[in-house]
Amino acid sequence: MARRSTRATAIILGRTKLREQDLILTMISEDGSQVRAIAKGARKPGSRLAARTELFCESDLLISHGRGLSIVTEAEVRKRHTEISSDIEHVAAASTLCEITRLTTYENVTDPFQFQILSKALDIIGASASGYNEAIVVAAFAIKVLSHCGWRPEVDTCIACGEPSVSRFSVAGGGILCESCAKDVAGAVPITASQVEWIKSLINSRFEVLASCTIDEDTSTFLLRLAHSWCATHLEARLRAFEFYAGM
Ligand SMILES: [Zn+2]
Repeated sequence: MARRSTRATAIILGRTKLREQDLILTMISEDGSQVRAIAKGARKPGSRLAARTELFCESDLLISHGRGLSIVTEAEVRKRHTEISSDIEHVAAASTLCEITRLTTYENVTDPFQFQILSKALDIIGASASGYNEAIVVAAFAIKVLSHCGWRPEVDTCIACGEPSVSRFSVAGGGILCESCAKDVAGAVPITASQVEWIKSLINSRFEVLASCTIDEDTSTFLLRLAHSWCATHLEARLRAFEFYAGM
């Protein structure tokens, strides 16, 4: 049967072993759709294809389609992100971004925003110097992507009555609550006015601004855990990379 070939620029989100010498790559292409394809021989030592399809790599690919899974036949690296792979914390952060992207993109569904925001966030993680706040970038990525997909936290007024003075946050409920309404919502956690402002910043501020701002450890941890819980609840999934990163 004849095979058809297409070109795509893609970021490698995941690599799964397939047989002795092959890998299945999960990727997001520039148009935002998720792509899965086999990289033949990529588990062989010294494989050129393996080096060009490493995790977080942005590569130009030639993909051959036919019956069954597509096959990557050529790959050229555009951006390797070596500064990420040489640091365990960066790897954990980047893996979390890729996990969220994998859970919020679909085959044959285009959404260029998803590619752009991931590419941007990986650049920031890779460039993060000491003093940069990486956890805030991860939390912001999670909240920005979920907001884009329709799960935007309500942080202006109480989600139940519209009261502007609030004291609790409910992940399952979708946002902030006043003291009186919070009595009827199980699992609504206390939240300060400053923490509410921080959630607004995660939604509205650019990664560069967030990465270089001053934030105390407790607030940073609170936001990262909240972002994790937001993803796990609304995507109805266990996010293992996110769990690992939040526990570091
Ligand atoms: Zn209320």
